[in-house]
Amino acid sequence: MPAIRNYIKSLFQWELFLGLRVTGRYLFTRKVTLMYPEEKTPQSPRFRGLHALRRYPNGEERCIACKLCEAACPTLAITIESERRADGTRRTTRYDIDLFKCIFCGFCEESCPVDSIVETRVYEYHYEDRGGQIITKQQLLANGERYEARIAEDRAQDARYR
Ligand code: SF4
Ligand code: SF4
Repeated sequence: MPAIRNYIKSLFQWELFLGLRVTGRYLFTRKVTLMYPEEKTPQSPRFRGLHALRRYPNGEERCIACKLCEAACPTLAITIESERRADGTRRTTRYDIDLFKCIFCGFCEESCPVDSIVETRVYEYHYEDRGGQIITKQQLLANGERYEARIAEDRAQDARYR
């Protein structure tokens, strides 16, 4: 009996009608897909994307090489080397993040006592060379300079909800 039923179903292409029924059901409902990359989805001010190192308004690096972020990173993606400067302060000589290891958990950002390492909203980036996934201190500082206005605005907005 099931064989006959299956034969009749295949004869009248029953599955095709089932599929078209689903298509018809969604044909006139509100569209939820976006025409990416022309259209973008809304983002939270807490979005965790590409990293950046920030500076103070006077241009001084915020990072004091305390290495809390390095210790907090669960994937060991951060590598820091530091030295003492002539004025007695400590600064990093090397600050690398391996973005292949990074899981964008935000622990580095959370652990930083001076709001130096942050994750921006930027998620559209790529690498062209082997090793390009290791983002250096200079690149991180450049990101900080490029996106500072957005970062400051997001952090101010975030603080209002805490
Ligand atoms: S976001 Fe998480 S995984 Fe990525 S560098 Fe920061 S602490 Fe490490
Ligand atoms: S980014 Fe912040 S947590 Fe990491 S070493 Fe610098 S000051 Fe310390």
